[in-house]
Amino acid sequence: MSLLKRLLRPTPPPPTESSVEIDGQRFPVLLRVSPTTRRLTLRFDAKEDRLVVVRPKGVPAREALTFVAERTDWIRARLAAVPPRVPFADGVPIPLLGVPHIIRHRPEARRGVWIENGEIGVSGLPEHLPRRLADWLKGRARTEITPRAHALAARLGRPDRPVGRISLRDGRTRWGSCTANGDLSFSWRLVLAPEDVLHYVVAHEVAHLVELNHSHRFWKAVRDLAGDTTDAQRWLKEHGTRLHRYG
Ligand SMILES: [Zn+2]
Repeated sequence: MSLLKRLLRPTPPPPTESSVEIDGQRFPVLLRVSPTTRRLTLRFDAKEDRLVVVRPKGVPAREALTFVAERTDWIRARLAAVPPRVPFADGVPIPLLGVPHIIRHRPEARRGVWIENGEIGVSGLPEHLPRRLADWLKGRARTEITPRAHALAARLGRPDRPVGRISLRDGRTRWGSCTANGDLSFSWRLVLAPEDVLHYVVAHEVAHLVELNHSHRFWKAVRDLAGDTTDAQRWLKEHGTRLHRYG
């Protein structure tokens, strides 16, 4: 969706929850209404393990559910392709900038979260481990992304288009975004991806500071900042879902 469309988008009504039956099992469906969409769309939300159907304002909910029910083959194939969930737990390997690190729970250590010999130590109660590690990863994401965004923006040579606020989110559909006033937001899960992938997403959003579109000039700005990003883009397409399955 274009930036302009996003800014002009009126507030949609809150989403409603429903379910569909697939092979004798109920599967959760979230029904969203979009005032700007023109047709029904269906996607799988890998973070929440549910289907999301977006309907135009004039299309009733039951029609949206029929639309879902008619797509069981697609849903079956999609569910079969979803990578397994990887919980934040002792002994589990997770990637940090694409490099696997094993999580080690050290209840007695009183050190918070730290890296040692290629492992990630986490102290404290076991029930606090997932939250503690997720918070630490968000901090790491900020450390990786913020100076990088400022350094790349400086290379644009456009002091009139500075980086605004940088926020870290846990979005499901976008890895990053840039508003018209230069505020950038990124998924903290990028810190799990290989460094060139994180670098590409930061360069992409920084390039939007000067080109609020996906024109040739925009892609030239991305290339100037990050070189050839074909591999990074392909990686996100092929493995991006995996990043939503951690924790
Ligand atoms: Zn973009």
